Parts: sequence; structure tokens; C-alpha cells
Amino acid sequence: MKVVKTIKEVREIVGAWRKEGLTVGLVPTMGYLHEGHQSLIKASASQNARTVVSVFVNPIQFGLNEDLEAYPRDLERDKQAVEDAGGDLIFNPEPCEMYPGHFTSFIDTTETTELLCGAVRPIHFRGVCTVVGKLFNIVVPDRAYFGQKDAQQLATIRRFVRDLNFNIEIVACPIVREEDGLAKSSRNTYLSATERQAALILSRSLKKGKLAIENGERDVAKVAAVIRENLQTEPLARIDYVEIVDFENIQHIETIHGEVLVAIAVYIGKTRLIDNFIVNI
Ligand code: AMP
Repeated sequence: MKVVKTIKEVREIVGAWRKEGLTVGLVPTMGYLHEGHQSLIKASASQNARTVVSVFVNPIQFGLNEDLEAYPRDLERDKQAVEDAGGDLIFNPEPCEMYPGHFTSFIDTTETTELLCGAVRPIHFRGVCTVVGKLFNIVVPDRAYFGQKDAQQLATIRRFVRDLNFNIEIVACPIVREEDGLAKSSRNTYLSATERQAALILSRSLKKGKLAIENGERDVAKVAAVIRENLQTEPLARIDYVEIVDFENIQHIETIHGEVLVAIAVYIGKTRLIDNFIVNI
């Protein structure tokens, strides 16, 4: 698996592919790849002649007290994971390649980033959108692949791609879970065995909420209460948020109607985990 560290090298390689008339997909990641990331790479490989996977723990999307230093990294393992999933190139820049001295320009979004993770991680989405915008300009892919696991991120990227006229198709991929229901995440490695078991409360509580909707409940407050009550049965869980919003705008609603995102963030011990489901009614 070829790994390049500079913007110049990526541009040369993608430029050569373009000369051959090949289509290019991009899968942005922070590395420590698992089957969730691999599902994105596989989707890209099935729709494009070449797939670039970026592996970059983006410092500007982490708040001061967040896990930038501790975030797991293992490039050798990632190379194998990209190869197995059918990717063609890894772009693994150092922070100084992406953010040379005196870096002062950002992609800042409103509306879709006001609530949920945006409300509790104030600089997070500015960092995400800026790095994704830079990757779009560096790779210039035909398509880029994002997981529904980070549903607010997906809605926000769709919005800035539309608002700022990036000529890139955004492809959404479903959440990949462990057999017992836990959404796959690089951060799951932080969990002790007891916490790993306790973390099942996220997907189980969401399931209860989904069941309530399937049984006809349309009152957002009532569905949120079902999920909250379930989460509170797990002593190791501390709720960060339970939110039900319209998926396109990530704004509050009172009644479940149209495309609706039900999203939660929960601390299990010190580890903050997110999960969600989307219904269309
Ligand atoms: P990350 O490395 O956490 O920044 O994630 C990179 C991409 O992989 C994002 O688009 C995520 O939404 C996606 N992703 C992460 N976990 C999963 C999962 N369990 N299922 C599907 N996509 C995922």
C-alpha cells in the first residue's frame, strides 16, 4: 500500500490518474481503521477507479480537554486495512503539512452545527469542515464517502458542499456495528471490559426509542424520554445529550415527521460515545 505524506505527491499521483481518465473517490479518516471505515473504502472502490484514504488525526477539531494526544494511531495496521478493502493510496500528512505557520482561514458553518455535538464541542465542526474542505481541494475527488455514524458531520458536510459549490458527490454509508450492537469506533479501544459491556446501553436504548416510533409514537419529548430512561438504567453511563432533530437542518422538532435523526452522546466512564438512527416517516 502506497503511503504519501505531502500534498505535492498526492496531487502528482491523482493528476496521473486523471490523465488516464480514471474516476477518484476519497475516504477521509483519522486512522485506526475498523470495518466501519472499510465499508466506506469498499463503497468507494465499487464506484470509482481509484480510492484515496486520508489518515490524519486533525488537531484543529479537538478541544483543549479532548483526546488528541491519546487518540489511537497505527499506520502499519491501517495500510493492511486499506489494502484489504480495495483502497489505492493513503495520504498521511503531518500536522505541519496541513497547517503551516500562520494558518488563519477556516470553513465555519451555522445551523447544522448549533445543536448536538456542536453545542458541547464548540470548535469541533469548524475543524472538521476546514480539514475536509482542504482534502477536497488537495485530492479533488469525484465522490467522497462519510459514515452515518457521525450523522451531524454528514449533514454539515452536505450543506457546505452545496453552499460553497464543491463539485463533489457526497455518499453516505450506514453504521457498521459489532455483533452485539455497539457501533464500531476507534474510541471503543479506550473501554475496559466492564465499560465495553456497559456501552451496549447506547444501541439498546436507541432500539427502545425506535420501537416506540414503530408503535406509532410521534411526540419527540416522549421518544426522547424513553431513550433517557433506558440510558439511566446503566450506572456507568452519563448522558451528554439525547436529541431528536430534522436530519437535513439539525434543528429541533416537536413531532416525528419526514427524515428525522435520533442522536445520543453518552459517557461510559471517561469515554464519550455517540450513536444514532434515522427514520423517514
Ligand atoms: P473517523 O476516523 O472517526 O474520523 O471516521 C472516518 C469516517 O468513518 C467518518 O465518515 C465516519 O462517519 C466513518 N465511520 C466511523 N465509524 C463508522 C461506523 N461504525 N460505521 C460506518 N462509518 C463509520
